[in-house]
Amino acid sequence: MKRRSSKFVMPEGYCVKCKAKKEIVDAVEETMKNGRKAIKGKCPTCGTVMFKILGGKATPPAAVSAPVTPAPVTPPTAN
Ligand SMILES: [Zn+2]
Repeated sequence: MKRRSSKFVMPEGYCVKCKAKKEIVDAVEETMKNGRKAIKGKCPTCGTVMFKILGGKATPPAAVSAPVTPAPVTPPTAN
């Protein structure tokens, strides 16, 4: 069993010039202002800049408010 783990899978995007799905060459991952990730690259046929928005899988900032749990009070043991 061989796994092509080392091979980078080219992302696919839609080229508006070729009106077809194409592999995105020179693809670079970019994070947009809203925190979403996108792939920016070029069409291998005509060189048009392609942009593919990946899902909103951006790592959210530490917005999870940790509940402040009081330290458990251990009753003093009289020894
Ligand atoms: Zn194209």
